[in-house]
Amino acid sequence: MRELPIDSLPEGDVTVAVSHSSLNYKDGLVLNGLGDLVKTYPHVPGIDYAGTVLHSTHADFAKGDQVIGTGFRVGEIRWGGYAQQVSVSGDWLVGLPAGLTPQRAMGLGSAGFTAGIALRSLEAHGLTPQRGEVLVTGAAGGVGSMAVALLAARGYAVVASTGRSQHADYLMDLGASAILPRDQLDKPSGKPLESGRWAACIDSVGGAVLARVLGQVQPGGAVAAIGLAGGATLETSVIPFLLRGISLLGIDSVFYPNRERRAVWQQLTDTIPHATIDAITSEAAMDELLQLGGEILRGNIRGRIVVDVNR
Ligand code: NDP
Repeated sequence: MRELPIDSLPEGDVTVAVSHSSLNYKDGLVLNGLGDLVKTYPHVPGIDYAGTVLHSTHADFAKGDQVIGTGFRVGEIRWGGYAQQVSVSGDWLVGLPAGLTPQRAMGLGSAGFTAGIALRSLEAHGLTPQRGEVLVTGAAGGVGSMAVALLAARGYAVVASTGRSQHADYLMDLGASAILPRDQLDKPSGKPLESGRWAACIDSVGGAVLARVLGQVQPGGAVAAIGLAGGATLETSVIPFLLRGISLLGIDSVFYPNRERRAVWQQLTDTIPHATIDAITSEAAMDELLQLGGEILRGNIRGRIVVDVNR
């Protein structure tokens, strides 16, 4: 880790004085040189950032505005938020919703934003609380914790699947109504269809867990596929699609259209109580990131880590 001169920042029409960033699974990959995400070095990781506009020639932002940035490959092929300043396109930013601090915005971060997109996608597909239980996999992780909190706050009955039983009380406090141990999902059942329990699922695990869940979805239900913490390969059967008419909805937060981002952030702000964001979040300093970046890939981080970039 080293200091870079300010004039080495890339071209962008908005420069943001970053106060907080966060740690996501993808940051763990970048911090460990994995996933072929970074093409040139030196590199500044950090896919999320929040702070105050220092300079802007973009029509939507002026000096002093508070903003949030996630996605658009910032922190991967572009320099990101583990720095005191970022220089980006204003097209990638949203204004900080009223009532949200930069710190809490980074508590939500890409994880909360992606859980928000997943729920919007499921609700556009017809999901309502009356349809029945919603499963969240990888529940004690960042996306999972945010999905549990968001669903519960919107009145859904949420079943949280986790491989870490020590976090059961934490997940119940976020609003889960039941805990399902991961080892009941991560092996094939040997059957293409099981009892159709779930109205929907928000899945950040992928792999064997996603394959198993597809056979447990109610007729007409849907699964929002977010992640691959448990594996990128999906070995499954078309039977649940043919006999139950279920849907697999792909979720991409990175290139989610800017014009719809504001609505997602507003919904998160209006729905998840501040106390819940705080309960999910812990704070880290910059010099802890290399160690924490390994821990998140090993599935050892509970909830979300907010990074104070000035610490
Ligand atoms: P976290 O590490 O915080 O959460 C992942 C969780 O998955 C872990 O906490 C753990 O939950 C579970 N898990 C970890 N390893 C395994 C394993 N080997 N088998 C089964 N379950 C496992 O990561 P994030 O929440 O930041 O990201 C989750 C996933 O979502 C990642 O793959 C990430 O790349 C992806 N993602 C995708 C986005 C998109 O736009 N599509 C945006 C953001 C994230 P538990 O201990 O509770 O079982």
